[in-house]
Amino acid sequence: MSNQVLSAAEPLTWVEVSQADLTHNINVLRHASRARGQAPVLCAMVKGNAYGHGLLPTARALLAAGVDWLGTGDIHEIEVLRGNGIEAPLYNVCYLPPHHAARAVELGARFVVYDDDVITAAARAARQCGRRAHLHVKIETGNNRQGLRHDAALAMADRIAADPHLHLEGLATHFADVEDTTNHAFARSQLQRFDACAAAIRVRLGLPPAGDPHDQLLTHVSNSAALLLWPEVCGAMVRFGIAAYGLWPSKETLLSVQMTGKQPLELRPALTWKTQIAQLRDMPAGEYIGYGRTFRTVRPTKVALLPVGYYDGYDRGLSNLAQVLVHGQRAHVIGRVAMNMVTVDVTDCPGVAVGDEVVLLGAQREPNGQPGDEIGAEQMAGWLGTIHYEVVTRIAEHVQRRIVA
Ligand SMILES: *Cc1c(COP(=O)(O)O)cnc(C)c1O
Repeated sequence: MSNQVLSAAEPLTWVEVSQADLTHNINVLRHASRARGQAPVLCAMVKGNAYGHGLLPTARALLAAGVDWLGTGDIHEIEVLRGNGIEAPLYNVCYLPPHHAARAVELGARFVVYDDDVITAAARAARQCGRRAHLHVKIETGNNRQGLRHDAALAMADRIAADPHLHLEGLATHFADVEDTTNHAFARSQLQRFDACAAAIRVRLGLPPAGDPHDQLLTHVSNSAALLLWPEVCGAMVRFGIAAYGLWPSKETLLSVQMTGKQPLELRPALTWKTQIAQLRDMPAGEYIGYGRTFRTVRPTKVALLPVGYYDGYDRGLSNLAQVLVHGQRAHVIGRVAMNMVTVDVTDCPGVAVGDEVVLLGAQREPNGQPGDEIGAEQMAGWLGTIHYEVVTRIAEHVQRRIVA
């Protein structure tokens, strides 16, 4: 980030991402994706600043862990990755306006298409820069955000196949309701619609059927939840985000796997958000803490000030609600979360001193190096009335990310 380029000072709050945990997660997901003996392309999603883990360092760490492709969310992410020497295939899944699509072609990134103007721009850019545009048609099966219904998808596939500058590399769809339920009838119906449309496109274009040794069309439907639930329907590529980072997509997904009697995969959360104690104060009973006087001490209280706040993405909704880890113990946030400061009650954490490590999110290591208690992203999401995807993604971009062993 530009701030970090300008300032060499040690940050007071930072995120650590464990290479070992990412590698572990990729290994178990790779193993699961081979349920039918094939080895699908592993596309790890790094959109949303790599789900808040830090785009560039995490992209490098995931590639080191053995993923094949990276999934981006916009042209900015494609430019950052390419501009920093990442040569791996990039696949953009979110909206690209035509001029961004043209830029993506120049940068050799592939992307999802469902829009004639984008195809026109991609073809023109491909002609001009002398490389083919690799396109993945999004088939609408029930999510109703992006995608083309059956006949329109066939027409777009025709158009791409007829243009020598364009390459129909893949077909995709996205589940609407796989994480939020243990009833997967709707997801199954989406899969049927996708399979029917993909088969019709293969016939129309004279392509070999799925599973044929000469089949090169990359069909992909699986996000993390689908990969964890139905490893046997992976298709030729899987696009997983949350599971790569070591988080289950939802309680319902975990429960659904448990209900089948299978042993759930062991995923390891890779992210730890840390800060340190900036100041300690001994307060008598009866003192208010912070803006709005929303907390009043009921006992002599040792209050630690943490140099982190909602500017850094530590949500103000955590006021008087969250806990942090100090010396492996839980300490409560007391009073309001401010823009750059948080106050916590460390009365029951013996031996605290200024400069001590505080874990805001993730596990704190015991002095012997073993992982101790953990503030899970799921628990923080519960405090905030949201999902853990949002919790990790909203850690502010300026917070430094460090890959640790
Ligand atoms: C973000 C995204 C995924 C990954 O979803 P997870 O639940 O994080 O695995 C897959 N496909 C598309 C199209 C996405 O936008």
